[in-house]
Amino acid sequence: MLDIKRPREEASKFRVLVVDDEPSLRGVLGELLGEAGYYVETAESGEQALERIRNSTFHVVLTDIRMGGMNGIELIRLIRNMSVQTEVIVMTSHASFATAVEALRLGAYDYLLKPFEDLEAVLALVKRTIDKIRLVIENRNLIENLKQKNEELEQLNRSIHELAVRDGLTGLYNYRYLQEALRAEVGRSERHGSPLCLLMIDVDHFKQYNDHNGHLDGDEVLKTISHILAERARKSDIAARYGGEEFCVVLPETRSDFAVKVAEDVRQLVETYPFLNRDKQPLGKVTISIGIAAFPADGDSPRALIDRADQSLYRAKTDGRNRVRLSSDASESSGGTPVAA
Ligand code: GH3
Ligand code: MG
Ligand code: MG
Repeated sequence: MLDIKRPREEASKFRVLVVDDEPSLRGVLGELLGEAGYYVETAESGEQALERIRNSTFHVVLTDIRMGGMNGIELIRLIRNMSVQTEVIVMTSHASFATAVEALRLGAYDYLLKPFEDLEAVLALVKRTIDKIRLVIENRNLIENLKQKNEELEQLNRSIHELAVRDGLTGLYNYRYLQEALRAEVGRSERHGSPLCLLMIDVDHFKQYNDHNGHLDGDEVLKTISHILAERARKSDIAARYGGEEFCVVLPETRSDFAVKVAEDVRQLVETYPFLNRDKQPLGKVTISIGIAAFPADGDSPRALIDRADQSLYRAKTDGRNRVRLSSDASESSGGTPVAA
């Protein structure tokens, strides 16, 4: 006997349908397979078999070929159209062996010749068929499992990547990512001849804010400003924490006049935000200063752009803070021409 050790409960998960117009044969096979532990149903015609198969799944259908009404060949054809996971074993006499070949051609799994000389051989074939189905099911489950594990791994990889490129406090991109992204964007602007701007942002009198309110409230200010930056930025913009209370925003495909508008929006959003104890700040509110550098007018390398944005920021500070300064108008304005406020 095959698989003596396999528990009956497992066999009972497999459902077998015996289709034959001869009651004695249905009886013998039903008993044989039932004793082997399978769940067995019987049908006396192709039509009845089809009804059963429509109502529930069978792993194996053992069917006679010559029956009144629908014959076994038609039944196979219909089953093949209905269910990919049902295997059909046909039972035919020596005399009509050609129909067994036809059945195999139509997708039957195997055939048995009647009359049966050895019931053990019948049982062995059913078991082999079920073993094959079991393997297919296990294989499918493994693939499913693997797919799920793969998705989890991809998700994990994405999270790891996110962690590696994000600043822990603010959730903005970090310094390292900013450097990479700026290099890539400057390269792209060079190739396509497209404009690009860089905003350098610094919180005004932030040391005093920390001194008066403590570092934790200071952190909250940094988070809120980061949120404002991220909200105001477009999808293609790269908002990053440069370090400490300094931020950068790379604006690809952006001319300086539009960059000034973005910077001005951000400045105003911060200026009007009801930060805790803002009224204790030297300007009576929490504010930021912003320096802008434009590619290629102010520099054609990441380093040059950062330097120039930094210089513009310094002018915004020396001009009184809470303002926006653009690098290119450094020569004509010595703090006079307010790009903003
Ligand atoms: P200015 O207007 O000239 O920029 O004045 P400032 O006080 O902002 O400039 P300064 O460079 O003297 O001080 C920056 C402060 O930012 C000092 C430092 O403690 C604070 N800071 C930097 N990183 C963090 C941080 O992660 N959290 C908090 N709460 N404070 C920070
Ligand atoms: Mg600073
Ligand atoms: Mg500062």
